[in-house]
Amino acid sequence: MIYGIIGDIHSNGDALTAILDAMRQEHVDSVLCVGDIVGYAAEPGACIDLIRESACAVVAGNHDYAVVGKFPVNYFNSDAKSAVLWTAEQLSKGALDYLKNLPLTERLPNVTLVHGSLRRPEFFDYITTIAEAGLAFDQLDTPVCFYGHTHVPLGILVADGKISVNTGNEYDLSKAEKALINVGSVGQPRDWDVRASYALYDTEKKIVKINRIKYNIHSAAEKIYSAGLPKFNALRLTGR
Ligand code: ZN
Repeated sequence: MIYGIIGDIHSNGDALTAILDAMRQEHVDSVLCVGDIVGYAAEPGACIDLIRESACAVVAGNHDYAVVGKFPVNYFNSDAKSAVLWTAEQLSKGALDYLKNLPLTERLPNVTLVHGSLRRPEFFDYITTIAEAGLAFDQLDTPVCFYGHTHVPLGILVADGKISVNTGNEYDLSKAEKALINVGSVGQPRDWDVRASYALYDTEKKIVKINRIKYNIHSAAEKIYSAGLPKFNALRLTGR
C-alpha cells in the first residue's frame, strides 16, 4: 500500500493540483490529509472540493476550524486573520459544514493523523522540541503519526528508546519503534524551498519519502492579489 500524505494546502489550488498529479504518477493508493485546507490564499472552495474528491481521511487544521468559529481567530497574525475572515465569506454552506465536521485526529489501522500535536490536539500546539515530541509520542498507539502545522518536513523517530530528529527526504521506519513525520506544506512551504511538499509512505518497505514538486507560483500569487488578500500571503510563496 502506498499512502500519499498532504497538508497545509492553504487554499493554493495551483500547488494542490500539481501534487495530486504527482501522486497519480506515483500510483498512490490512498490520499491522507493532515489539515489546513484553507487560509492565506485565494482558492478555498476549489481546494475543499479537490480534497473531498481525493482524500480518504482528513483532519482539521487551526485555519479550517478558525473559518467556522471553532478556533479563536485572535491567535492569528493580521495577514492570516484577514484571509480567515475572507474565506468564511467565500465558502458555500456545504463547504463550511465540511470544515466544521472534520475530526481533530484520525486513526487508521497503522497510521494516525493530526495537524499539530497528539497531546491536546484542539490547542494546535507546535512540535518544536524533543520534549514536545515525547508528549506526542505518549499519545501515539500506531507505528507512525503524520502531522503538519510548521510547514517544514521533519522525521522524529524512536529507536531503542531514543528519539532522533531527521531533516532529510527519506525516513526508514523499519528500525523505528514509533515515528512522527511532518509532511511539510503543499501550499506555503517555510523551509527555504518554495516547491510544494508531500510524503509518500510505502507500508511494505516501511519507507517514507518527502517529495518536492514545482508548481505555478506566479498563478497562485496573482489569484491572491486579484482577490484583494494581503500581499504578504502572495510574497510568502516566492520565498522572499
Ligand atoms: Zn498551516
